[in-house]
Amino acid sequence: MRSNLLGFLLIIFSLGVSVPFEARNNDTTKPFIVVLDAGHGGKDPGNLGNGYKEKDIALDVVKRVGKILEKDERFKVIYTRTTDTFLELHERAAIANRYDADVFVSIHCNSHHTQAHGAETFVMGLNKSDQNLDTAKKENEVIFLEDNYEEIYAGFDPRSPETLIGLSLMQEEYLDQSIMLAGLIQNNMVNNLRRKNRGVKQDVWWVLHNTYMPSVLVELGFLTHNSEGHYVNSQEGRKDMSEEIAKGIVAYRDNIMLATANNVKPKITEKQVEEVTESVVKNIYPGIEFKVQLAAGKRKISLKPAQWNGLVNISRNQEDGLYKYYYGATSDYNEIQIMKGFTREKGYSSSYVVAFRDGQKIPLQEALKSRSN
Ligand SMILES: [Zn+2]
Repeated sequence: MRSNLLGFLLIIFSLGVSVPFEARNNDTTKPFIVVLDAGHGGKDPGNLGNGYKEKDIALDVVKRVGKILEKDERFKVIYTRTTDTFLELHERAAIANRYDADVFVSIHCNSHHTQAHGAETFVMGLNKSDQNLDTAKKENEVIFLEDNYEEIYAGFDPRSPETLIGLSLMQEEYLDQSIMLAGLIQNNMVNNLRRKNRGVKQDVWWVLHNTYMPSVLVELGFLTHNSEGHYVNSQEGRKDMSEEIAKGIVAYRDNIMLATANNVKPKITEKQVEEVTESVVKNIYPGIEFKVQLAAGKRKISLKPAQWNGLVNISRNQEDGLYKYYYGATSDYNEIQIMKGFTREKGYSSSYVVAFRDGQKIPLQEALKSRSN
């Protein structure tokens, strides 16, 4: 049975379970560490649509977001750069990892040869939509400006499906949380600033792939679009967008904290969850069924929810002389990620995603590769 993601989230709320996301930092006395990454810099100006400078706009917006968060003692802000300097992509992730940050937010401006416009927020993952790939390629190209890129990015070919799959799997652990953070930022930009909604999307971003935390990349808007470029570059636009991004990060932090503080009512509303869910793109793999593996053993266990911390629709399969127990069944890879987050919240801390084709279990990598050819 294919369960509906929205229905699933609403059930969680009606049951009074706070949120289906695993808390990374649930110690309320520790500051929530936010790494803000201004795209490009120094010899890499980013895009120069309509004569505006992506590197300068990104840095200014990052500083404004940081200023807002720094006023709130619950947050500690780390910047990957605060001046117009060139920073290699792997250094950006390394900074975030060194500080053991709770989230990584990278800020960029988009460009296109048409009058395309709108705001979009990316998480790491595979998506074969041509225009997305185009955006990622442009943002990844900076690698070739780095002096020793052949050494650092050994074997990295942005056009090879194997490389892309390998990179996206490294961020998989944080996909559910990254999608939530991306959704909150994206919805604020769209609902409060009336930006055209290009949605929460997945793509392969070198800058995101080796951060060990939920990570998103915000494309504020297209500098190449005549009126949007003007807005994104304007003082008013920068101020408004910074406020909405900061609000999204604060909402995400509250959400994560509340996931473990059961005596506090979640501030995030059903409507917000509904909106986030709606803006998350589907990520369908035809012919593939993803499930969350919860347990394996020799003993045949009842499938009743009481046996499974209240999880419904558990399925059982006999494989290699063992009974294996699964939660969920969908061909939507994003949906299964959120389901995995939910099972972890329910106590299955080592649950993981598996894939089936025609009822036969296949390696996850093979399943993810099935669509990229
Ligand atoms: Zn950029």
